[in-house]
Amino acid sequence: MPCITDEYKIEKCYNLDTMAKMEDIVSLCKRRGFIWQGSDVYGGMAGTWDFGPLGVNLKKKIMDAWWQYWVEEREDMYGVDAAIIMNPQVWRASGHTETFNDPLVECKECHNRFRADKIADGISEHVTTEEFHALNIKCPNCGKTNWSEIKQFNGMFKTSVGTDPDNIAYLRPETAQGIFTNYKNVVDTIYPDLPFGIAQQGKAFRNEISPRDFIFRSREFSQMEIEYFVDPESWEEHFEKLLAGCHDFLENRMGLKKENIHELDVPAEDRAHYSKRTIDIEFDYPIGREELMGIAYRTDFDLGNIQRESGKNMEYIVKGGGKRFVPHVIEPSMGVERLVMAVLCTAYAEDEINGEKRILLKLSEELAPYRFCVSPLLKNKPELVKKAQEVYATLRKKYGNVTWDDSGNIGKRYRKQDEIGTPKCIVIDFDTLEDDTVTVRDRDTTKQERVKISEL
Ligand code: ATP
Repeated sequence: MPCITDEYKIEKCYNLDTMAKMEDIVSLCKRRGFIWQGSDVYGGMAGTWDFGPLGVNLKKKIMDAWWQYWVEEREDMYGVDAAIIMNPQVWRASGHTETFNDPLVECKECHNRFRADKIADGISEHVTTEEFHALNIKCPNCGKTNWSEIKQFNGMFKTSVGTDPDNIAYLRPETAQGIFTNYKNVVDTIYPDLPFGIAQQGKAFRNEISPRDFIFRSREFSQMEIEYFVDPESWEEHFEKLLAGCHDFLENRMGLKKENIHELDVPAEDRAHYSKRTIDIEFDYPIGREELMGIAYRTDFDLGNIQRESGKNMEYIVKGGGKRFVPHVIEPSMGVERLVMAVLCTAYAEDEINGEKRILLKLSEELAPYRFCVSPLLKNKPELVKKAQEVYATLRKKYGNVTWDDSGNIGKRYRKQDEIGTPKCIVIDFDTLEDDTVTVRDRDTTKQERVKISEL
């Protein structure tokens, strides 16, 4: 059976196994409607990002895949969706009001402000003014070394609730507390066997001193968190199992490469005060090796605090045996935007076709914003357009995320679909009208084959 053209032969492949440059990815995201600066039309708003039609598809698929892996495919996980604005007592009990601080330092020459522990590698978030000054670091903005004292800056966003401006509340800086505050509700309504986990996805807000690196560090972002409740005697076993699950998810569901994923066993002095063990899972982004997610053993710190502050008993009573204790918790915590960025960096590739550079996103069928693109070979032939519309409608009903493209010539359409990661392009031509077959063109190999419509 005939193919439309066989002109697309990949001549040279580069960049496929190395990490793409950040500017290329940012530019693709903007150009193709994945991610834009928040409030772009008014000159932007630092630390905020808006997802466009393509980006929202990708982000949603990543979040759905996480939910499927951790909640739907397991029998020991339960979901919640808690309010973003919570009783301020939550943040007093959790220690956030007192200690959710970042070390703020100001350049006395240009008056730019920075987070002292992120200005260079290897600086602890507990760095003192003396230690920081002794490092003689140059201001990233003006190059001078005249620094202020270090101040502790609380990263929670304040708001007021109702008509009283003094009725202060906070936008949640993590989704975790919405899980802990519902632990008892879950136990009393679902009666889960221990160990069990509660999962939540949703927005979190941190008033970052210097948001940076595209969507890597922003002031408004989304988290996917699990609090896994265990008998304290078996925490190590569950920690290892959850850690293995994180690797499996990242490699086999998200398509990240094993060699770009690294574990950092966070030393005691850098761990959050409540954590007995923390492993940061880092990823080789084009901006460097940075934290993608963390998994922490939070002991009974949170449930213990809630028990003390609320006066309500948080003990779990083991069925039958009567053993009772406040469960300990292991928390795998993932930032959605950091995962979106890792997926995009892994998928981004460039090659050369007939001497011309081609950009493509090698996203899996499960994650690609569109699974198929349907087009008529020529848009001014009503019989082709009609047939293509029929195929488009059928596939949309079946798969949902199918796109239509009849702009420019067929080569240009392929390039556009390559750039947004569409795995297959389906083209309806004159042969289709005769034998009900279409051309299916593969994004990665550019190979084309004839397939019966009924077999699509
Ligand atoms: P960092 O050291 O990079 O500030 P963190 O250790 O404070 O991160 P956690 O409090 O452990 O981060 O939050 C869990 C996850 O939430 C992180 O691993 C990351 O994926 C994500 N995250 C945290 N802060 C941000 C942010 N400002 N922007 C985007 N994602 C974030």
